[in-house]
Amino acid sequence: MFFECVEKIISGGLSLTSIVETCDSHVSTGMTHKIRLASGILILTLLLATREVSLHAHGKTVIHFFDVGQGDSTLIVSPSGKQILIDGGPDFSALEGLGRAMPFFDRTIDLLVLSHPQTDHILAFPEILRRYNVSAVLMTGIAYNLPRYEKFLTLLRGQKIPVIIANPAKDIDAGDGLVLDIVWPPPVLFGEKIKEVNNSSIVLRVLYGNHSALFTGDMETSEENEVLRSGADLRADIIKVPHHGSKTSSSTGFLLVVRPQLAVISVGKENTYGHPNKGIVDRYARFGIPVRTTMAGTITLTLAP
Ligand SMILES: [Zn+2]
Repeated sequence: MFFECVEKIISGGLSLTSIVETCDSHVSTGMTHKIRLASGILILTLLLATREVSLHAHGKTVIHFFDVGQGDSTLIVSPSGKQILIDGGPDFSALEGLGRAMPFFDRTIDLLVLSHPQTDHILAFPEILRRYNVSAVLMTGIAYNLPRYEKFLTLLRGQKIPVIIANPAKDIDAGDGLVLDIVWPPPVLFGEKIKEVNNSSIVLRVLYGNHSALFTGDMETSEENEVLRSGADLRADIIKVPHHGSKTSSSTGFLLVVRPQLAVISVGKENTYGHPNKGIVDRYARFGIPVRTTMAGTITLTLAP
């Protein structure tokens, strides 16, 4: 689905709005479809060849929860070296993290995921678009008045980078047995102004072998409840704790469904928000879930198949 979507978009070279329509509409038919498919296959082959060069197969998926201070930025590296970066942190620390985690000659990031367009999740993204070849971006496409977000969207349009709008009906097969299970939100938020931007956060599960990791952006209790009501499968071995350990997230009902074995909180030292909230950390402890925070540095976890 991921590459099918991407091939249509790349061959189209369209603006953000029409990109989404092209991706969702499956309008290509007949000869046009064949031409697009052929060019798509060529592009796909080139993409795979590029990845082969930087291949560092170890049969495992590696997750780096970067220490970016008070914000989020997590790099997922597939067994063959494909990179998925979820969020861009509150400063340029994510660039340092990428520099350490990626091979020097690898200038391609296969997918950027913007959980929601607030500063502590997007700041390094425009610079990343300048320094790396980004194959595609996954986002909600909500309307949000932030210069950094505008800059990001302008660069996306200028570089004709394919955009995938989050849709729980369309999971993303990243290859190598790595799947992004899109849990929330539905695609109806595209172009909408959202009152509580935190509650528009993309929620997704990274599935690899028998393992799973749940990414939650800055989701708060109301979005947790929406997700629970959706009936989506939320079970995960690892949870990236919602909203930096805020007291407005990690509800008991939600944790009972996710049942994680490890909780990771991306949070800055001595932040002014009081994150992580002590009551929330205690809640995880009461469930017997170990908590690690990025305050002591980047956390790297490995998922074996
Ligand atoms: Zn945040």
